[in-house]
Amino acid sequence: ARAQPDRYLDDLNSAQREAVETLNGPLLILAGAGTGKTKALMARIAHLQKTGRASANQILAVTFTNKAAREMKSRLEKTPFNQREPVRWMGTFHAICARLLRENAELVGLKDSFTILDTDDQLRLLKQLIVAENIDEKRWPPRMLLGLIDSWKNRALKPAKVPASEASEFDHRGSELYDYYQRRLIELNAVDFGDLLLHMVTIFQEHPFVLLRYQNRFRYILVDEYQDTNVAQYLWLRLLAQGHKNICCVGDDDQSIYGWRGAEVGNILRFETDFPGAKVVRLEQNYRSTPHILAAASGVIDANKGRLGKTLWTAEEQGEKVRLIGHWDGDEEARWVGEEIESMSAGTRGLRPMSLDEMAILVRASHQMRTFEDRFLTIGLPYRVIGGPRFYERMEIRDAMAYFRLAVSPDDDLAFERIVNTPKRGLGDKAQQKIQLAARDNGVSLVDGARILLQDKGLGGKGGAELRVLVDGIARWHDAVRDPDGDHIALAEALLDESGYTAMWQDAKDPDAPGRLENLKELVKALEGFENLQGFLEHVALIMDNESEAEGAKVSIMTLHAAKGLEFPAVFLPGWEDGLFPSQRSMDESGLKGLEEERRLAYVGITRAEEVCTISFAANRRVYGQWQSALPSRFIDELPEAHVEVLTPPGLYGGGYGAAGMAASASPQIMASQQSDLHDKASRADVYNSPGWRRMQARSQSRPMSQPREQRNMVVDAEAISAFAEGDRVFHQKFGYGTVTAFEGDKIDVAFDKAGSKKLLGRFLVEAAQ
Ligand code: ATP
Ligand code: MG
Repeated sequence: ARAQPDRYLDDLNSAQREAVETLNGPLLILAGAGTGKTKALMARIAHLQKTGRASANQILAVTFTNKAAREMKSRLEKTPFNQREPVRWMGTFHAICARLLRENAELVGLKDSFTILDTDDQLRLLKQLIVAENIDEKRWPPRMLLGLIDSWKNRALKPAKVPASEASEFDHRGSELYDYYQRRLIELNAVDFGDLLLHMVTIFQEHPFVLLRYQNRFRYILVDEYQDTNVAQYLWLRLLAQGHKNICCVGDDDQSIYGWRGAEVGNILRFETDFPGAKVVRLEQNYRSTPHILAAASGVIDANKGRLGKTLWTAEEQGEKVRLIGHWDGDEEARWVGEEIESMSAGTRGLRPMSLDEMAILVRASHQMRTFEDRFLTIGLPYRVIGGPRFYERMEIRDAMAYFRLAVSPDDDLAFERIVNTPKRGLGDKAQQKIQLAARDNGVSLVDGARILLQDKGLGGKGGAELRVLVDGIARWHDAVRDPDGDHIALAEALLDESGYTAMWQDAKDPDAPGRLENLKELVKALEGFENLQGFLEHVALIMDNESEAEGAKVSIMTLHAAKGLEFPAVFLPGWEDGLFPSQRSMDESGLKGLEEERRLAYVGITRAEEVCTISFAANRRVYGQWQSALPSRFIDELPEAHVEVLTPPGLYGGGYGAAGMAASASPQIMASQQSDLHDKASRADVYNSPGWRRMQARSQSRPMSQPREQRNMVVDAEAISAFAEGDRVFHQKFGYGTVTAFEGDKIDVAFDKAGSKKLLGRFLVEAAQ
């Protein structure tokens, strides 16, 4: 690389410089969005190396999401200084812990080839445990146990440390099952995500010399998005930082949005107590957004209580007001956004032309994405989904990866179970039980159990012959993986051929088989970026973002959660409706905690925008196949009027509904909502009682619903729970179809068609694909 002048200090303001030049001791940079916290962190990394305080390998830089970690890397590359070596210890908590754990796996009884399980594997394992313990799986679903275990791991609680008050959860078996689960994971030479941190904290606590080694190695620790760390991450950081005490955390209490996942905003509020002698630097100048955008964001977040409070100002030009627009329904909203993006990329209404890369759509719940995807596919607008419907979660990809996993680690029983009869090998339940038994009786893995079974002639016929081919194949692939001169891409291809997996899809008559074969090709292509299969598997386990590699500019679609730390010249924030954003759950909750977290999410959303921020809502939304009418989000009422411009959609909108229908679109309502205090729902509802509006409502109910393209059977994640509403049709694995009747705290009352009324956690419900 050509030498360039070290200019990284030149473009910092004085507060940022102070943050960068205070190298020793604990430092907290506490500041609002867009004030250059991340920028300062990068300059700090440069400065540490420039001043010789630390070499690249002595710097540990952690952040929260994969996207943020990538962003960090690319920003560091752009930081003007002559970097001699790359900073290798830069990444997410999980990625860094995975690497550390590989170096120390034996200390917790693992081999360094351990597998990182995803949710699907976890659930399968928990289900087995629950069945083995004769627990009624209907009453005590694996997902519930998973939620509990996750929450314990987030707090770094090992089974023995689970508080008595919680140990009785899950039919009094919670902590006991957690214990079994942990043992089973070790037997399988596997970890889940929570383990990555939990094991490392354990190792640090129980092996002082190991801790000392890392304390010495990492002279300087830098943490971005500190407000979102959970207890386990916090403990891990504290242990590491106790050596040199050179820890620099940056964060913004107003952007704490992972409380639902165990993040503790208290960590940031307590920093000065935790690290005595800590210095706190505040940054106040925002360099990202125009004054209108900043003022709108501040107006919204002002409604939260219990904030640290910050001053924010900007020297940017006034620019566009935040744009607000109401639509008839979600499809219209997507159609409008698509057209708006097209005209913005051409340059419209005095805005500069923008590339698609400069625009992003940030949604509250991932199910909102689909409408946009469908629309953009129709009009041929290139887009990428970040953290969305994931490539690596598709069935054929998961199958193929199970084969890869077995090649790397033949003891991976979960992978073995997944593919033992895929393609069909005549190894049905009976045969599989025999394999399980042989494995259990001999205390070995399933592959070895299968070998013993074959040796003992315990399985004959077609099944036996096919099983022989499979176990021999696994042995051969495993040898090939260990060959230092081996070509892992050729191996992957051979493996998919020899196992009969590719042929299975070639012979399949399904209409989606060609697509699946394409995906398998994609998968092999993805291997090119890696040195070996193991590296690739680790990458996939850690990075589940689906970013297509195709060239060209694309609009980004992602959840608000995934957008943290990022910025875009133009941001679209659709679906600002009560019940969707803020989520129904946060509105039903007693107390303001949930609602305040939603409001912080709104603040995060608006502050991603540099030049143009467009908020929209729909009067009707089809959620999981059911129409429901909606009221504009209460957060819309909180936008300061002076900084908002209400757009009216063109009259020709709305297909069969005609101009009259759309003319009734939101603008008058919004104006009204800004003139009077409409914070309570009843008065806003009045606005909707006008005859015109009701006519539209009536139409919406008689409107034929378009058929979903494919049967969907998506598991509703925590973010999507919000989307359930009274009257929704839902599906539960055991209870079958039912209708949502009420909400209570985080529970949902469902009247099941066959099983009667039940109270459930939303995450056990699946949208009814009808
Ligand atoms: P967030 O809270 O959203 O993570 P942040 O505080 O980390 O925001 P950055 O992303 O570091 O903010 O900076 C926001 C934008 O402002 C970036 O485009 C960055 O390059 C720019 N910026 C930051 N500081 C300066 C500065 N002193 N001069 C010019 N531009 C700056
Ligand atoms: Mg940042």
